[in-house]
Amino acid sequence: MAEETSWTDERLEKLRKLWDKGLSISQIGEELGVTRNAVAGKAHRLKLPKRQSPIAKTSAKKAPKIVESTKELPLRLALRQIKWSRSKCVWPHGDPKKVEFGFCSEPVLPGKPYCPEHCDLAYTTSRDGS
Ligand SMILES: [Zn+2]
Repeated sequence: MAEETSWTDERLEKLRKLWDKGLSISQIGEELGVTRNAVAGKAHRLKLPKRQSPIAKTSAKKAPKIVESTKELPLRLALRQIKWSRSKCVWPHGDPKKVEFGFCSEPVLPGKPYCPEHCDLAYTTSRDGS
């Protein structure tokens, strides 16, 4: 008999599942009938990932840099962009202070604010419009 907690495969499996569900260490301890320390130590040894909410997991991977590029825009331009149809490229053309100013308005890539051509420009840092 081990002096402390005996970790059977079954228990390890349960620990992993509860950990994955995002239960707190003490909650997991209660479920398994072991001390908080035992859970923490085991989790550490198993190299279980730091828990995060399921939402954070998916959005962290999916989120493109659209938000960042929107932040780069001057406020007035950003406001215009909001009103602009989401299905049209919002790449600015011309001078925002002038009447001729407008947007590219080509059909956008799904989930992107720009057409393929301007996506290339937008996501490669170079913003040299001609
Ligand atoms: Zn465009």
